[in-house]
Amino acid sequence: LRDRTLMSRSMSRWLAEQAGVRTARNVERTLMTRLHDAEVIDLASNDYLGLSRDPRLAEAAAEAIARWGTSATSSRLVAGTTQLHVDLENALADLTGMETGLAFSSGYLANIGVLTALGGPGTLIVADAHCHASLIDGFRLSRSRTETYEHGDVADAERLLADRTEPRALIATESIFSVLGDEAPLDELLDLAVRHDAMLLVDEAHSLGVTGAGRGSVFGTALAGHPNVIVTATLSKALGSQGGAVLGSAALREHLINRARTFIFDTGLAPSAAAAALTAIGIVIEEPERVASLHANAEAIANTLVPTLEPGQFDRGAGAVQSIRMPDARTALAASLVARAAGVAVGCFRPPSVPDNISRLRLTARADLSSSELDTACTVIERAIKEQK
Ligand code: PMP
Repeated sequence: LRDRTLMSRSMSRWLAEQAGVRTARNVERTLMTRLHDAEVIDLASNDYLGLSRDPRLAEAAAEAIARWGTSATSSRLVAGTTQLHVDLENALADLTGMETGLAFSSGYLANIGVLTALGGPGTLIVADAHCHASLIDGFRLSRSRTETYEHGDVADAERLLADRTEPRALIATESIFSVLGDEAPLDELLDLAVRHDAMLLVDEAHSLGVTGAGRGSVFGTALAGHPNVIVTATLSKALGSQGGAVLGSAALREHLINRARTFIFDTGLAPSAAAAALTAIGIVIEEPERVASLHANAEAIANTLVPTLEPGQFDRGAGAVQSIRMPDARTALAASLVARAAGVAVGCFRPPSVPDNISRLRLTARADLSSSELDTACTVIERAIKEQK
C-alpha cells in the first residue's frame, strides 16, 4: 500500500504543469556554480569591495569560531549575544551615522522584522514599485494596507499619503535599486515623510560600502540620524560577510527586540559572520581607495559598453550595479551563457525577478577588478550581445 511517489499525485501533477509553463516562457531558474577567480571574471556577484575573500575577514571569522564555535547556538534573547554582536551593532551605527543598530541573520529577515514590527492595521505603507522581494514580503506579512507609487515618483507617493486614514505611515524604498542600480530621491522622500508625519525606511543593501564614501546613501545625503529615518542593510554584499541589520533610534531598537519575530525567534547571527562584518567595516573606513576604485571600475564598464549598444539599452547605475536591457528572456539567457562560456559571469535577470518586466543582463563592478579583466569582460559581453541579433 505504500505509495512510492514522493508527493501526492495532485501535487506532482501541479509541479509538472508549473515546470512546463516556466520552460515555455524561458524563465526557469537554475543554480549557478560559484567559479574561482582563475576560471571566470566575476561581474555577477555582490562582492562589491572584493572583501569576501580578504584574509583579514577570514582570520577574524576563524578567531570567532575558535572562541565561540560555529553557531550562535540560540536566539539573541536566550544565550546568543556575544561581545562581537554588540561591537558589530555599534560599528554599524557609527558607520552609517545612525543612533543604534540591531543585527539580524540576514538582510531579508531584517526587512521582514522591521516591517512586521512597525506595520499592522494602524500603519499605511507607501512603497516604491521597484522594492525588493524582502521588502514586499515584509509589507504582506505586516498586514498593513500597502500602496505602491510609480518608481521614484515622489508626487505619486504624496498622492497616496494624502489619502491616508491610518494613524501612522511608512514610506519604503531602496537607496540604490537592486536590479536597475538607480538611486531613489531620498531628500525629497524625507521631506515628504516629515510633511506627512511618516517614517522613511531605506534599504541600503546596494549602497552600504558603496555610496557616501562607503557609509551609504543616507549618510551621503546628510539624512543619517534624522528622527524619521530607518535604515536596513545587508552584511553580505560590500561587507563580504553574511547577515543583516536595522539602524535607527534607541526606541526603535528596543521595540524590535520585543516585537520583531524574525529577530526573537531566529538563532542569532553566527559569531564568525559578525566578526567578518566588523572587520570589513574597519577596512571600509581605513581604505577609502577601495570605494574609489569600485566607482572607477563601474564608470569604465559603462564608458566601454555604452557606445557598443543601442541608445538607452545601458542603464547606468549610481553604484556598482549596471544593467543592459535585452529584447526578451530567451536572448538575455543566451547572452549570459555565451559570456559565461567565454569566462565572464554576468547576472541574467528575467521576469518575475525584474520590476519592469524587461529582461536584462546585470553587471556589477568590483573594486578589485584589474583593467585587463575589465577590458576582457567588456569585449566578451559586447560579443555575447551582438551574437543574439
Ligand atoms: N534588500 C535588497 C535590496 C537586496 O538586494 C537583498 C539581497 N538580494 C536583500 C535585501 C536581502 O539581503 P540578504 O541577502 O542579506 O538576505
